Amino acid sequence: MPAAFPFDNTYAALPDRFFTRQSPKPVADPALIAVNRPLAERLGITLGDNDAELAQLFAGNVVPMGAAPLAQVYAGHQFGGWSPQLGDGRAVMLGEVVAPDGARFDIQLKGAGQTPYSRRGDGRAWLGPVIREYIVSEAMAALGIPTTRALAAVTTGEVVLREGRMPGAVLTRVAASHIRVGTFQFFAARQDTDALQDLLDHTLARHYPGVEGPSGLLDAVLQAQAELVAKWMGVGFIHGVMNTDNMTLSGETIDYGPCAFMDTYDANKVFSSIDQFGRYAYAQQPQIAAWNLAQLATALLPLMPDRDAAIEEFTEAVNGFAARFDAAWHGVLRAKLGLTGDDEADARLAFDLLNRMAQGEADFTQTFRALSSPDPESAAAAFKAPAALMPWLEAWRARLVQEGLPEDARIAKMQAVNPAVIPRNHRVEEAIQASITGDFAPFNRLNAALRDPFTDRPEIADLQRAPEPTEEVLQTFCGT
Ligand code: AMP
Ligand code: MG
Ligand code: MG
Repeated sequence: MPAAFPFDNTYAALPDRFFTRQSPKPVADPALIAVNRPLAERLGITLGDNDAELAQLFAGNVVPMGAAPLAQVYAGHQFGGWSPQLGDGRAVMLGEVVAPDGARFDIQLKGAGQTPYSRRGDGRAWLGPVIREYIVSEAMAALGIPTTRALAAVTTGEVVLREGRMPGAVLTRVAASHIRVGTFQFFAARQDTDALQDLLDHTLARHYPGVEGPSGLLDAVLQAQAELVAKWMGVGFIHGVMNTDNMTLSGETIDYGPCAFMDTYDANKVFSSIDQFGRYAYAQQPQIAAWNLAQLATALLPLMPDRDAAIEEFTEAVNGFAARFDAAWHGVLRAKLGLTGDDEADARLAFDLLNRMAQGEADFTQTFRALSSPDPESAAAAFKAPAALMPWLEAWRARLVQEGLPEDARIAKMQAVNPAVIPRNHRVEEAIQASITGDFAPFNRLNAALRDPFTDRPEIADLQRAPEPTEEVLQTFCGT
């Protein structure tokens, strides 16, 4: 039985200036690396079991029935600098599927060849970023963080020129949509109010049914992004390239370029080789999200009847992002500490811990996981200098007594939010290096472990371990 997709394409029905119709460019010799069968099932996609056929399909050599392939256009601020025209330069959207539960998803091939938006790029992806995005986006989903997903990965049998000759690959990305802040900016910058209105209507119908108008959209996206960034920070995630073209209206994480999870806690941590000034550092993320959302607000202004009144209204709305983020972030931190109230003092207790973790050079994931165990003192082992932790533990214990939760209930609650395993950079890097030699065993093993991130088991002990100094990944690259 050949693969079958329940396509129902609505973006392709928008006016021509939203995209260019573009088929994926065939590749020489596709081979399947991975196909995400549970995700296919969730989407209502029938895959069949012919790997060679699936490789042709997910490489873009065969376009499935019902697809309406296109490259989307958008604009964006990259590191604060304005680019009036970006777009899918190495991605082709096949179309939208409607899952059995009625949810709608884009199916996109990333690395599918040149499009009119490729600028000087070759339209291709190499294996490294494909492996990284597959592992990290699927890990984020398992961690309960809104994200695009990975449906499949293939090698192309072609060479891609980067820093050397690299194996080419294609990732099949699944997203609630690929509508970005930059999509709105594209039409706003061209003063194309009709297109803006169409985009607003499409976005509201798709992501926020029942919400009305530009003000309603802004409000909904402010909330979705406040919650998203709080969730990122709760697992030590640094996106690394929060340009406005990499921020979705749906509230899903998108673009796993130079992203990384921190090992040792450091609020100023930056991994991306191109983020020289720390614009997208860990603790900068809420401010940057607010900045991006101010750009969204600006792009929505032409749709408002009274511009001056709208500027006032939107300024206040965007200024309210900080309070929304704080509420979400304090909620994340309280849950990580097993606390349920909304006591201001709980946030202070959490920040006190983070400060001590910074001073004591504590591993972020291990500290919270150990606190979630029957023996919270074992968190000391996650610190290079554990002395600072002891007084804090006493304060936390006193607070837990007030909470009055039985010990096993506290443990169960905390273990459900504090992961035992995350995609540590050195493990992702190891999986990439092995895949380059044709060995996908580390990739498969890491994926399998990350599917169940909240359960300790002895066989993943090496994946839970923090890197030795010699293993530590100091920089990540936007490697396209
Ligand atoms: P990103 O840094 O991934 O957000 O991409 C920024 C822009 O560069 C987008 O418009 C991409 O489509 C484009 N781009 C990135 N890599 C390539 C490539 N290899 N070929 C063509 N366009 C690319
Ligand atoms: Mg991008
Ligand atoms: Mg990217």
